[in-house]
Amino acid sequence: MTALQDRPTTVAICEQCGSPGAARELEDGTLLLIGAGKRCPCGCDRLRRFR
Ligand SMILES: [Zn+2]
Repeated sequence: MTALQDRPTTVAICEQCGSPGAARELEDGTLLLIGAGKRCPCGCDRLRRFR
């Protein structure tokens, strides 16, 4: 599996609070917030990619 550090960085937006954060996109499309993981600090785990 590719190292997390090699995944492209993008910006993820939390669908609950709308907060943007730097994230890495995994091969399966999962967004992981850098420094926070799969969940926004507000507790929401629904992230979408900012476009
Ligand atoms: Zn949030």
